[in-house]
Amino acid sequence: MTSMLVDPLHYPLSEEGARYLASATFGHVIEGKVVPSISGETFAVHDPATGLQVARAAAGGPEDVDAAVASARRAFDDGRWRFLAPLEQERRLRRLSALLTEHAALLTDLDVLDGGVLKMYSRFLVQFAVDATDYYAGWPTKIAGTIPRVPRDVAVYATREPLGVCAVIVPWNAPSAIVVGVVMALACGNSVVLKPAEQTPMTAVLLGQLCVEAGIPPGVLNVVQGTGESAGAALATHPGVDKISFTGSAETGRIIQAAAAPTLKRVTLELGGKSPFIVFADAEVEPAAMGAMYSVWGGSGQVCTAGSRLLVQRPLHDAFIDAVVGASKDLTIGPGFDPSSQLGPLISEAQLERVQRYVALGVAEGAQLVLGGSRHGDIGWFHEPTVFTGVRNEMTIAQEEIFGPVMSVIPFDTEEEAYEIANAVEFGLAAGVWTTDLARAHRASRALHAGTVWVNTYQEVNPTVSYGGVKQSGYGRTLGEESIGEFTTVKSTWMKVSR
Ligand code: ADP
Repeated sequence: MTSMLVDPLHYPLSEEGARYLASATFGHVIEGKVVPSISGETFAVHDPATGLQVARAAAGGPEDVDAAVASARRAFDDGRWRFLAPLEQERRLRRLSALLTEHAALLTDLDVLDGGVLKMYSRFLVQFAVDATDYYAGWPTKIAGTIPRVPRDVAVYATREPLGVCAVIVPWNAPSAIVVGVVMALACGNSVVLKPAEQTPMTAVLLGQLCVEAGIPPGVLNVVQGTGESAGAALATHPGVDKISFTGSAETGRIIQAAAAPTLKRVTLELGGKSPFIVFADAEVEPAAMGAMYSVWGGSGQVCTAGSRLLVQRPLHDAFIDAVVGASKDLTIGPGFDPSSQLGPLISEAQLERVQRYVALGVAEGAQLVLGGSRHGDIGWFHEPTVFTGVRNEMTIAQEEIFGPVMSVIPFDTEEEAYEIANAVEFGLAAGVWTTDLARAHRASRALHAGTVWVNTYQEVNPTVSYGGVKQSGYGRTLGEESIGEFTTVKSTWMKVSR
C-alpha cells in the first residue's frame, strides 16, 4: 500500500534510514499496529527538495478516525496506562527517550526527507524531542493533588486526573517535534490520537512503533494519517475526543475551536505569529544581525516564532541592514541532506506560491526589495532569502504570517514607538529585543504583548519553560509546569466526617 517509491540509495541516508525506508509503510497506527485506511486510499508524499514523490501514505477518513478514537477510548477506560504505577509510567517514558536517541539518525533522515528541513536543524529537533521526553518522563510521580482547608465536619481532597482521549493535531514544519505534544499528554495519563500533517506522515509511524517497543501499551497512542479536511475535521468533531491540542495556522485554529464547540471539548491552540525582532541603536550589532538572519532564514522562515518583522532604530538602521543583507546574500541554498546547505526548501509548491504572492504584494504596496524576491532554481520548492526595507506596519507583509524566508524591515525612532509598532498586529507569540541597556530590556518585556520575550537572544526553547501565545497566536501553554494543567483536570472529593 504505502511503501517508499524512490530508491533510498538516491539519498545519502544513514544505514538505518535506508533499511527502514526500503520497507516502511506509512499507514495509521491503531492498537499498536500499522494499518492501511479502511477505504484502501493513499496519498502522495513529496520530497520538498526535488518535488518528487517519495512515498505514499494512508489517506484516513472518518471511519479510520472512529477506529483510532475507539481504540484510545478502550485504552483509557480499562486503565492500561493511566492506572499503571506512576514510577512505571516514568520508566516506560524514559525507555521511549532512549529509543528516540537510539534511532536519532533515522528520525533525522525522515525529517529531512518529508519535511525538507536541513539536517543540522533536524538534529536539533530530534534532540529537542529527546529532551522533552526526558522532562515529561519525570512528571507522573509529581502530579499531585491538594487537601483544601474546609470546615471540620467534612474532609476534602482534590486530585489531578487525566482528561481522557486527547487529539494532538500537528503541522509539518518540525516533524520530530510532534513527539513533544504526545509525551506531554501521556505523562498526564491520557490516551492520544495523533494526526500528523499530510505533508509529513513519516515520523508519526515510527513514534507509534517506538511507543509500543517502550512498553506504552498498544492503543494508548494511535496515529491517523490524512488531510485536515478529512481526518483532521473528523477528529476535531468526534464526540469521543475530550481535548484537542492543536498547533498550526490561525485560520485552522479558528475552524478547530468552532468544531470543538458542539461537544465542548477543551482546546489548546498554538498558532502563528508575526513576531517583532527589535534592535535598539545601543545593541551589539554582530550577534543581533546573526540573530535576525537565523530567526527568519532558519527553517526557511517556516517557524511560528520567526522574527519576520525586523524593527531597527534609525541611527543603526542602514548599517544594520547592510550587515544582514551582506551576510545573507551568499547563503548556500540547497537540499537538507547536503551539509553545505544553509537554507532549505519550502514544504510544498502551495507554500512556494504563497510566499511568491506575498513578495508580489510587498512590491505592490511600495516596500523596497533589497534582497532576493524570487524562486531559487526550478527543481524543488526553494525561495531566495528576501528582505524588504521601508515597510510600514500597516502593509500586508507586516501584518500577515508569510511562513517563508521573507523579512520586513521597519525603522523606528523612540522606544515607545517600537513597542507600539511591535504590538500593532493580531498575533502575540514571541518578540525579540536587542539592547545593552538593562532597564530598557525590562521595560520591553513589560510592554510587549507576547507569550515569550527574548532579550539578546532568539528562539531559545527548553522543555522546562512554558510556551504559547496571546491574542490570535492562541491560548494555553505547552512545555513547562503550566502544560500539566492543560492535560489534566481537578476532581474534588468531599466526605462527611462528623457523626
Ligand atoms: P498549514 O496551513 O500551514 O498547512 P494548518 O494549520 O492548516 O497548517 O495545518 C496544521 C494541521 O492541522 C495539519 O495536521 C492539518 O492537516 C490539520 N488541519 C487542517 N485543516 C483542518 C481542519 N479543518 N480540521 C482539523 N485539522 C485540520
